[in-house]
Amino acid sequence: MRACAKCFRPATWTANASPPEATVGVCDFGHSYDSQTWPTTAWVDSLFKLFELYEIETESGAGQEFASQIQADWQIFTFSEFGEVRQFLLSAVGDHELLSEGVRVRLKSGDLDRTDEVASWSQFSEEIRTLNRYFPQSAPDRDILEQTLLGSVDTLCTDTALFRARLAENGEPFDPSDLGAPPARRARAGRANPVGIPYLYLSFSPETCVYETRPSTQDSLAIATFHANRDLRVLNLADITPPDFFDVVDIEAMPEQIRRVRFHRYLRALGAELRKPIHPSDQPTDYIPTQYLCELAKSIGLDGVLYSSSVDPSGEGRNLVLFDPEKATCDALVRVASVSSLRLDWAWV
Ligand SMILES: [Zn+2]
Repeated sequence: MRACAKCFRPATWTANASPPEATVGVCDFGHSYDSQTWPTTAWVDSLFKLFELYEIETESGAGQEFASQIQADWQIFTFSEFGEVRQFLLSAVGDHELLSEGVRVRLKSGDLDRTDEVASWSQFSEEIRTLNRYFPQSAPDRDILEQTLLGSVDTLCTDTALFRARLAENGEPFDPSDLGAPPARRARAGRANPVGIPYLYLSFSPETCVYETRPSTQDSLAIATFHANRDLRVLNLADITPPDFFDVVDIEAMPEQIRRVRFHRYLRALGAELRKPIHPSDQPTDYIPTQYLCELAKSIGLDGVLYSSSVDPSGEGRNLVLFDPEKATCDALVRVASVSSLRLDWAWV
C-alpha cells in the first residue's frame, strides 16, 4: 500500500520524516493524487522501534489494541478509524504478534517501576475528595508530577489579549475595577482556586469568555480585555504535545521513550480533569483535585494554567487562570455585548 504526507498528523510530519525516493501516485488511504507517495514499508524501521516499546497485555480486561494504543500515545496518523491505522501497520511490517486479532497491549516498563501514574492520580483524587483531605495515604509521586508539569510549560507574552466577562444586570457600564478577581473574603471555590484564595480566570477570545459565563438569551455582558504585565510561564494543559514518533531512538534509549509516553499519558489525564464540564449539581469538593494540581503548579513557580474550555462549542476555546490576579491589567475600555441566541446541539442516546 502507498501512503502520503497527509496520512501523518502535520506536527508529526517533519522534514526528517520524509523518506527518500518518493514517487507520483495515489494514496491508498483516501487522500487524493499526490506528487509524493511512498510504500508504507518506507517507515518500517521507525515502526519496528515503536513495536519494541510494547508487549502483550496478560491481565484480562486491561490494555487496548495496538493500533488504538499507539494513536493515543503518539498521535502519528490523521486516520479517524483505528482500522486504517492497523491496515497501515500490517502493510508496513507484515504479520506481527502485537497486531493479531484480539491481542491487547501494554507499554513495557523498561527499567522503570510499573506504577500507573494515571490510575494513581485517580485514586488520589478520590481520596482527597471523600476520605483524607490534608494527609492522604495515596499522594502521587511529587517528583514525577513536577517533572510532568514542567514538560508542558509555555510562555505567555504581554501582547496576548485575554478576556473576561461579567453579566451586566441592568445594562449599566462597568468600571475596569469591577472585572477583576473578587476579594479573598468573597472568593468562592472554583475549578482552579480553593475557597478564599482568588485567582483570575481569563479566556483567549471574547467568544470563549461569553460561553464561560453561561448566559441566557438577551443577557448583556460586560467584556474587558486584559494583558499580562510581564511574560508569564504557564502550565499548558490544553495543547499537550505527544512524543515525536520519528524521534524514536534505538533500543538502548528505551526507558527514556517509555518515560516520555508515560508523562504524555499523565498530562492528558490531568488536562482532562481541568476540562471537565461544570454542572449546577457539582459540589465544591469536586474541584479539590484540580485545586491541588493548580497549587502544585503555583508552588513550582508557574504563574498560571492554560486549559481547554468545556463550554465553547468550537472545541478550540482556551482559558487561562492566573494565580496572582495582579499579574494582568485590565484595559480602560470595557465593552458590552448582548446575547441574541444560544445554540444547542443534542442527540438521543
Ligand atoms: Zn495519505
